[in-house]
Amino acid sequence: MNATHHQDIVIIGAGYTGMLAALRTARRTRRMPVRITVVNPSARFTERLRLHQIATGQQLAEYSIPDLLAGSDIEFRRAAATALDPTKRMVALDDDTALGYDILIYALGSVSDTAGVPGAREHAFTLDNRALAQRFSEQLPGIAATGGSVTVCGGGLTGIEAATEIAESYPGLSVTLLSRNEPGAMMGEKARAYLSRALDRLGIDRRVGSDVAEVLPGAVRLSAGELLESDLTLWTAGVRVPPLAADAGIRTDERGRVVTDATLRSVSHPEIYAVGDAAAVRMEWGPLHGTCQSGMPTAAYVGDTIARRLKGKKVAPFRFGYVHQPLSLGRNDAVIQFVTADETPRRWYLTGRAAVGYKETVSSSPLPVFRLSRHLPVPVRPSSAGHVA
Ligand SMILES: Cc1cc2nc3c(=O)[nH]c(=O)nc-3n(C[C@H](O)[C@H](O)[C@H](O)COP(=O)(O)OP(=O)(O)OC[C@H]3O[C@@H](n4cnc5c(N)ncnc54)[C@H](O)[C@@H]3O)c2cc1C
Repeated sequence: MNATHHQDIVIIGAGYTGMLAALRTARRTRRMPVRITVVNPSARFTERLRLHQIATGQQLAEYSIPDLLAGSDIEFRRAAATALDPTKRMVALDDDTALGYDILIYALGSVSDTAGVPGAREHAFTLDNRALAQRFSEQLPGIAATGGSVTVCGGGLTGIEAATEIAESYPGLSVTLLSRNEPGAMMGEKARAYLSRALDRLGIDRRVGSDVAEVLPGAVRLSAGELLESDLTLWTAGVRVPPLAADAGIRTDERGRVVTDATLRSVSHPEIYAVGDAAAVRMEWGPLHGTCQSGMPTAAYVGDTIARRLKGKKVAPFRFGYVHQPLSLGRNDAVIQFVTADETPRRWYLTGRAAVGYKETVSSSPLPVFRLSRHLPVPVRPSSAGHVA
């Protein structure tokens, strides 16, 4: 690296992965001539892992991004990235300014995909940000008071966590979970049976194999034609990623995620690294799907790898294997399915209070990791991440 030239490293997105990538890069390059800037539309850090708790009105701690970055020499820009120009190496921001970069970390995450079903965008809530989750929570007491109904569309982990949280907080509500596959289909038989009993205990009605054809005000129409009354509808069926990379001609997969090489650089633009939900990362056993569990190791790896490359050192490829599928079932129950690296269920699973404690540890761990990362490169799943020390 030319010692007289500052390397400008810009991170777009300050969710779980953007924050960790920024802090880790700053720590690893602290005596080097780099300038690191993080761009995010809100100065508040969104604990996405807890948005279903916000959606039922729980009061949770709030964290400010500038506070989490304090003392790290990272500059925070409160803005949304609106476009990328990879030829000029510029990011356009919604405050009509632009940032130049030598290295870009693309960490824009994902949002619920409401585009495919008519009415979903207009008439269903999502858990995409704190404000939406809060607005959803404000509706619940009134609907519960009249014994009304809530429909959760999507029986993946987010849908199950939301439905159980709602049913536990508001026993007077009639909660329906609509899903294409059996909830917890990816879990082992015993964990799935436990989940099924928990859904029964909470009185959650399941409609399996039900594709939603349309979301209406006060109702959901299934593809078989049935009309379900729904005072409040929550959409958790699938995610999509922001279109910035695809719009800029950066190579993306069919879902708009940046296709990466073995060291998490864009295959078309190697000065761009991609992490978290917005990255299409492939391991020898298959592709990663968007989770915090896999996203945090991508971020830690990218911080380490950028620093090593700037120092002219060799880098090892990124390696990751899943460990668990942690699932909260309200505040008083949970089920954790342990898995092999490629997410095949193992025989072991955890339930009840032990699982509640485990899940809480998983959900709260990113914040201490951020705080510690200002001072030392904290191991982030070293057993499976395999990043360079
Ligand atoms: C209710 C719920 C529960 C979950 N539970 C689990 C769990 O138990 N375990 C697990 O592993 N995963 C879980 N997930 C998934 C997990 O939250 C995501 O995989 C994780 O947040 C991905 O991190 P990220 O940094 O890629 O994206 P995000 O955390 O979504 O962060 C993206 C950031 O980019 C910002 N951004 C977006 N557009 C722009 C722009 N144009 N310019 C600048 N910034 C922008 C956003 O504001 C945000 O701050 C859950 C998700 C939900 C919704």
